[in-house]
Amino acid sequence: MMRVVLATHNAHKAREFQTILARGVSELEIVTYDGPEPVEDGATFAENALIKARFAAAHTGLPALADDSGICVDIMGGAPGVFSARWSGRHGDDQANLQLLLDQLADVPDAHRGAHFSCTIALVAGGAEETVEGVWSGRLARAARGANGFGYDPIFLPDGEGGASAAEISPERKSAVSHRARAFAALTPLLAALPR
Ligand code: IMP
Repeated sequence: MMRVVLATHNAHKAREFQTILARGVSELEIVTYDGPEPVEDGATFAENALIKARFAAAHTGLPALADDSGICVDIMGGAPGVFSARWSGRHGDDQANLQLLLDQLADVPDAHRGAHFSCTIALVAGGAEETVEGVWSGRLARAARGANGFGYDPIFLPDGEGGASAAEISPERKSAVSHRARAFAALTPLLAALPR
């Protein structure tokens, strides 16, 4: 059995990781990291994921996984991007963050509301570093809908889901098609190749 530490304090994310992972890699135990946290001052999702994974690996001596993710709006040049968790100025205030984004796009017609979620996962193991990315495309709704998920899910309408928001589809469905699921699919062969 291989132990890998997952560097996140976000319980929603940890749960999504566990669900996705349960389908993928055998002989792997994920433990959550609860040590000190580094400053996430990277300019990209990949830089931030690497900062977190390096830090957790150094503190635990275990191979470490960390993700960084966010929502990127086409007409805003990819913002909020790495600022997704603190877009309203208050870190982790999901309601304020999504409301500000809706307000900023109030005048933007449906044809120009393209957006995607992006997730980069970094794996730091034995001095080697790798990153993989997953993207979930769609567009922004005009109002929040649905009670599942977290963050910007209520205002994100993923392509191919019949107009449902990411907070209206089931957690199982989200775990199968989301940016995190796609990044994980890319990560699976790297995890499978770790020495047991
Ligand atoms: P991180 O925890 O630094 O990766 O910040 C991610 C931020 O992006 C979260 O606070 C959410 O606002 C947003 N985000 C990332 N993934 C999702 C998702 O699956 N659904 C909704 N919002 C997400």
